[in-house]
Amino acid sequence: MLLTDSHAHVNARHFSRDRDAVLQRARERQVGLIICPGTDIPTSESAIALAHQHPGMIYAGAGVHPHDSAGFSDATLAEVRRLAAGTGPSGDPAVVAVGEIGLDFFRNLSPAEDQRRAFAAQVALARELDLPIIVHNRDAHADIMAELKQYGTVRGVWHCFIGDRAMAEEGLALGMYLSFAGPVTYPANTALMEVAAWAPLDRILVETDCPYLTPHPNRRDRNEPANVALVAAKVAQLRGMPLADLAAATSANAAALFRLPPMPDASAAPPRGAE
Ligand SMILES: [Zn+2]
Ligand SMILES: [Zn+2]
Repeated sequence: MLLTDSHAHVNARHFSRDRDAVLQRARERQVGLIICPGTDIPTSESAIALAHQHPGMIYAGAGVHPHDSAGFSDATLAEVRRLAAGTGPSGDPAVVAVGEIGLDFFRNLSPAEDQRRAFAAQVALARELDLPIIVHNRDAHADIMAELKQYGTVRGVWHCFIGDRAMAEEGLALGMYLSFAGPVTYPANTALMEVAAWAPLDRILVETDCPYLTPHPNRRDRNEPANVALVAAKVAQLRGMPLADLAAATSANAAALFRLPPMPDASAAPPRGAE
């Protein structure tokens, strides 16, 4: 079984003391793929550096989060471009997305106009570079949809989806994937559970958004990629399907969305030296 944590801030300072142990626990829970988005220029750089240290397991996004969008300028955009454009045949295969980007009108940590400018510019950049976007949305559904709909279709993921079925249908109609995180395991979130049970199997991902949003029943603890198994198990249960099948589908979806290279198949051949 291969689980993919499609959104994990494993570069965060919360993991600076025990990151290797955290990644080892992930492997032990069969979490073999992790997408680590940036939230500003320094964390985009640290996400890429971490991906370089763990090739084939960690892939990075480069982008500026709405919380960090205050003062977003042409110079900021040029930095995101420099980092994100590392992809492609001659570039850096570790960078697979522009993100995380979006709008957050719940916490409003950056002025709304700065958020809108940063989001619009980075969506356009992702299209220019032919990269998917990783979208963060809090209380900004209509504004995000208005920005994205002008493009007709969008390659991207709505990370930590917490909306209702109508919102999910709008995102899916654009071509986006929905990624479910810890909230789908919280007993009060019945509307979200209905979306997770209903959404098309070929359009869903699972994630931790660690170190935040720890799944039930460990909500008091720091979150980490191993816990994506709890999210995946909940979604599988809601859909009435085996966990292994849900893991395979969501990993294949992540590979398609982020255009990841094929995973080496451990069962296909004995390791070198074992012949
Ligand atoms: Zn987010
Ligand atoms: Zn995030």
